[in-house]
Amino acid sequence: MGFTKPGFTLIKRAIAGGLLSAAMVNAISSERKEQEVRMYVEINLEQLIQEQEERIGIQYPAQRPVIHYHLPADKSGNFGLYDRKTNEIFLQNDRYELPDWDVETVYDTINHELAHYYLDKLSEKRTNTNWPEYNDRTMLEKLGIKLISEGTATYIERKMNGKEDTFTDAKWPKALGGFFSSWELIPKDEIVYSGGFHLVKPIIDRYGEKGIEYLLFNPPKGQEMFNLPLYQQRILEELSRP
Ligand SMILES: [Zn+2]
Repeated sequence: MGFTKPGFTLIKRAIAGGLLSAAMVNAISSERKEQEVRMYVEINLEQLIQEQEERIGIQYPAQRPVIHYHLPADKSGNFGLYDRKTNEIFLQNDRYELPDWDVETVYDTINHELAHYYLDKLSEKRTNTNWPEYNDRTMLEKLGIKLISEGTATYIERKMNGKEDTFTDAKWPKALGGFFSSWELIPKDEIVYSGGFHLVKPIIDRYGEKGIEYLLFNPPKGQEMFNLPLYQQRILEELSRP
């Protein structure tokens, strides 16, 4: 442990005049929060990485990711994202004003996006390719890779915030449609994050970095998407061989 929540420093601003529009107040509030988030991340980044390394048994590269405190304009719906091509992390900005925003959101988001950075760098180290890569894959294979990618990032995030596994094998979809939200071909968050976490957890619990690496290069095959407990069993068995 030893992780301290930040005492956010308010940045003083001289505001002339008494009347401010709501939009102006929001803009100021958003900018102030962005500064707070930046300060929080800059102060705590090294400690977060070290704690992840200790708790999960992984090793980050010496090089640290570049972190931006604005999302690209076309990605504004996210809390954060990682660009595997440029190795950059982006944190949210237009969500700072939401009433449920707090430092826990930043803590979870930075841990999650750091995990994506770690996975990409691990792949770059081993095979000199970015990860995940979805080109030339079937729909089911893409889903499988996404489960490993988001499941492992969620694993690392939850190792840090202590959130438990509430997903059960009974919740796995029995058909392709079950993986997607009804009106768009967007995979369901519950399946991708909570399900992915549930899928990789016993493997990483037991094998740490070795397990992560094995999952990275052995995602579920297309047909295994309809029997993920069996896939999990297969991976555990293959890793147990001397
Ligand atoms: Zn993610």
